Order: sequence, then C-alpha cells, then structure tokens
Amino acid sequence: MVDSTIWDIGYLLSAALFIIGIKRLSSPKTAPQGNRLGAYGMFLAVLVTMAKMFSEGILGLELIISGLIIGGLIGIFMATRVEMTEMPELVALFNGFGGAASALVGLSEVMSKINNSDLIPTDNVELYATWIAIGLSALVGWVTLTGSLMAMGKLRGGFYIPFTKKDERGRRKWINFPTWGPPWLNYVKGLILAGCIILISLTIQNPEDIQYIIGLSVISCLLGIILVIPIGGADMPVVVSLLNSMSGIAAAFTGFVIGNNVLIIAGSMVGAAGLILTFIMCKAMNRTLTAVLFKSFGGSSKETVSRTKVGSDPEEVAMVCDGITKCVIIPGYGMAVSQAQHAVKEFADLLEYQGVEVSYGIHPVAGRMPGHMNVLLAEANVPYEQLIEMDDINSELPDTDVAIIIGANDTVNPVARSGEGPLGGMPIIDADKARVVVIIKRSLSVGYAGVDNDLFYEDKTMMLFGDGKKMMNELNSAFKEL
Ligand code: NDP
Repeated sequence: MVDSTIWDIGYLLSAALFIIGIKRLSSPKTAPQGNRLGAYGMFLAVLVTMAKMFSEGILGLELIISGLIIGGLIGIFMATRVEMTEMPELVALFNGFGGAASALVGLSEVMSKINNSDLIPTDNVELYATWIAIGLSALVGWVTLTGSLMAMGKLRGGFYIPFTKKDERGRRKWINFPTWGPPWLNYVKGLILAGCIILISLTIQNPEDIQYIIGLSVISCLLGIILVIPIGGADMPVVVSLLNSMSGIAAAFTGFVIGNNVLIIAGSMVGAAGLILTFIMCKAMNRTLTAVLFKSFGGSSKETVSRTKVGSDPEEVAMVCDGITKCVIIPGYGMAVSQAQHAVKEFADLLEYQGVEVSYGIHPVAGRMPGHMNVLLAEANVPYEQLIEMDDINSELPDTDVAIIIGANDTVNPVARSGEGPLGGMPIIDADKARVVVIIKRSLSVGYAGVDNDLFYEDKTMMLFGDGKKMMNELNSAFKEL
C-alpha cells in the first residue's frame, strides 16, 4: 500500500490546475491556455484516482485500462466528429453523463454499504450527512441526466429513431420535442420535489433498504423531464448552463459520499461557475431564473411567415457599402452554420482598407452556446477589441451607416421590445437603428424562438437571400470589382 500523502499531493496539484485554468478562462487571450490547464488537471486527477484504486486493490488493471481506452475513444470520436454548430447538444449530453455518473457512483456506494452493514455509520450525525449527500447526489444527478437529454433533443429539434424505415427523402422517423407547459405542471413539479424529500428522509430511517433510493432515482428522472419540457423559445441557454451547474453540484455531493476531495473541489467549481453563467444569461435575457423555470413563457409559437420581400443582390449591397464611414457586423447562428467567419473577416478588411470603421456587435446569446460568436470570430483572427458587447454597440448603432446582420434573427428582432411572446423582454442589438440594414440569410423564415421578424420588411432593410458564406464571398467579389 502506497502512503496516502502521495494521492493527496496529486489531487492538490490537479485542484491547483483547475483553479489556475478557470482563472485564465476569464480573458479570450488566455482562454486556450486555461482550457489546456483544466484538461491537464483532469488527466492528472484521473491518473491519481486510477493509481489509488489499483494500489488499494479496488479495481483490477484490466478494468482500469479498458475503462480508459473505451472512455478515451468515445471522447476522441465525439470531439473530432462533432460540428461546431452541434457543440451545445454535445455539452448538454456531457452534462447529462456527468450527472448520471455521479448518481451511479452514489448508488454503488449505497449498495456496498447495504451488502456490508458494518459500513453503515452508527453515529447519527454521520448517518444523516452521508445519506442526505447520497440522496441529493441521486436527485440532482438523475434530474441532470433527463433534463439534459430533453435540452439536447430540443436544441436538435428532435431525434431520429434508429432502424426505422427511411422515407422517399432518405430520412428516418423523427420524434419532435414539443414545448408544453400548462400552469398546473408547476404543482406536479412541487409534488415530485416533495416526494423526493420524503424519500430521502425514508432512506435515512431505513439505510439498509435500497427501494427508497431506487424510487428517488425514478421520480428524479421524471422531474428532469417535466422541468425542461415547458422551456423553449429563447430561454434554452439559461437551462443548458443551469444543467451544467447541476452536473457539478451532483459531482460535489458524490465526492462527499465517497470521500474524494478532488471531486468535491472540481464539482463545486463547475457548480459555482455554471450558476454564475446562469445568472449572466438570465440578465442577458432580462428574465429571473424562477420565471424561466416556472413561467414557461419561452414557449415557441413557430409562427408561419406569409409576408414577402424582394431580395437584393451582392452588387447592390456592395454599392451601398462603398464610401460609408461606419459599419457594424452582427453575427448570429447562421454565420456558424455556414462557417462564414473567414469571409466576414475578409469583408471587414476590405472596408477597413477604404478607411471604414468596422466593429462587431455581439449578443450574449447569439448562436447556440455562450461565447459562440467570439470563438468563431477569434478563429478568423478578428481582433478582440473589435468585438463589442450588446450594451456598448447599441449606443453606437444610431450613428452607423450600415448594419450587416449575418445569420442572426432573434437577437435583432424588434418584437422583443414589446414585452410579449417568446422573445418578450429580451434585450436585443438595436440593428434597426442603423441607417441601412443588410440581412444575410436564406429565407424570411423565423429564428430559434419561432417568431416572425418585422425588421426584414422595413424599407431600409436589404435582404440578401442565400447561404451566409456563399453570399459573403459574392459580396467580397462585388466589392473588389467596384
Ligand atoms: P436565430 O436562431 O434566431 O436565427 C438564425 C438564423 O440563421 C435563422 O433565422 C436562419 O434563417 C439563419 N441561417 C441558418 N442557416 C443559415 C445559413 N447556412 N446561412 C445563412 N443564414 C442561415 O439566431 P440568433 O443567433 O439571432 O439567436 C440565437 C437564438 O438561439 C436565441 O433565440 C437564443 O436564445 C437561442 N439559443 C442560444 C444559445 C446560446 O447559448 N447562445 C443556446 C440555445 C439557444 P434561414 O433559415 O432563413 O437561413
């Protein structure tokens, strides 16, 4: 048996790497290094845990190596295969896996204590503390799993059912994830939560009985589904970051149950960072967290568009941009889908070469994950100083000659100011205040929240219909030919 100090030093080092890593994530310039430090910290924590378990004879070498290979291969496969635009779904899935892993470790701890009743604490305080932590780890872990799977399904718009017959367009059967939230559902949530608390107290009174913890796991899964099912429209970013925080909280409870310090530290950090992000997102959406979770006003109406608008062409837009002094580029989800960021940067360079002042207006929930636009524009080498946050760019838009909106919709939809509907009250980038607005998207269709956008039909708006990257490239060519 190896001296336990060595494991503590390993855990301390990995905790230090997490803390320095998260600190460096706070600036875009140091973020890649912060990310790497966090990954090294996790690698070290996994190595130390495996070595510790092996030295204590808890796991055989075959099991450790097969776990590492299978987990590593799945990680590499997912990370290399996933498209940038699918990243939020992947994050939601990983949150869910994190929650389930914590709950399963807690469950295995319960089973080992039931199989060996000497492990059940006799001291009342210890018994209460352990069983409350086990109960909370199951509650939060299973809610996180099913809630995250619901969130993932909603972000994708639904799931294909594997092995079903393909239709004439080569698509399999599809399950839609509806947004559904009658007011009485809040009472059901309250009842299930009360049921969870009763079951946790029953596990404390009957620590040798597994049925209560199994019951708790089942109703927690149900709670996760009905917590997320009413949330739709533009409120999904808040839910994804809340679930991220919950996966950390579940891990911290599990760390307490199994006495693993690094799990407590890492879990608390994920929990706290996720909660801070959740509140930043709520502020960006002008919502309170309780309103997002219980009012379900994010419900998507998926309006059908019946109005029409004649589209412009790249030559016309290039002529409008010729001789201007100030241009603001507002990117959204469509820029990510079409991978237009490099063409956008080229357009900005062409304008700057002519002495035009160019900046980018970044909405906090543009795209499908926090920071989505910043990551893409950084990849295209857009200087950080040109990425201006919503409140700051809004004061500049009335003095802007041309606002170019590429693949954004909800985040520039003036209907949000009315306070009504799925986008009601969400602050937007005031693109409509610029002298001329150019919108690049493929059609007049609605954005993520499913709401029609009056900005498309304003006289000063020029619609450039087509794929974002293709239209930006055509605009660049047209501009060069002027
Ligand atoms: P939206 O989702 O509102 O709209 C994106 C637009 O992009 C669509 O209307 C679509 O129009 C267009 N588009 C799609 N593909 C292309 C393409 N290839 N080329 C050009 N355009 C394309 O985007 P926003 O960024 O404005 O808003 C983000 C929304 O997502 C908000 O409602 C936000 O709440 C939500 N959300 C954000 C998350 C986050 O963390 N950032 C997470 C989850 C949801 P068309 O089909 O006509 O081309």
